[in-house]
Amino acid sequence: MNCIFCKIINKEVPNYTVYEDENILAFLDIFPVAKGHTVVIPKKHFETIWEMNTETFQDISAGLRAAAGRVQSKIKPDGMNIGINNGPAAGQAVPHVHWHIIPRYEGDGGGNMHSIIKNPGDQTPAELFELFNK
Ligand code: 5GP
Ligand code: ZN
Repeated sequence: MNCIFCKIINKEVPNYTVYEDENILAFLDIFPVAKGHTVVIPKKHFETIWEMNTETFQDISAGLRAAAGRVQSKIKPDGMNIGINNGPAAGQAVPHVHWHIIPRYEGDGGGNMHSIIKNPGDQTPAELFELFNK
């Protein structure tokens, strides 16, 4: 498969590994947006979270937590943003699901989750809730 992250898993492309277990590989992002920016990928190819079942997701979550802990202990940031660009509309460029661990530092000038988008649409939360209430 012509997937850059599968090539990293298969050691066809080198990486700077920060943590690894049977389910995931965590490595430094080649184009970091912050000091210690790390990518966490499942060793199996899933395009988005929707291809994973709950058990797989849980296994990966344990590795994600461990990888974040490793970044925290070695880089010692003041905080972290952890998230997925799930699907092209959400900004996913590499179609092998991955979590970004973005270390944050006091005064680094970055934003938070609220700065990703400010386009709430024209329905109120109360109106949208009708969809969940059926
Ligand atoms: P996306 O935009 O798909 O959520 O993020 C993909 C991330 O993977 C980007 O931050 C990009 O810099 C990183 N990336 C892409 N190719 C490589 C690579 O070959 N090696 C490493 N270490 N990171 C990569
Ligand atoms: Zn892949």
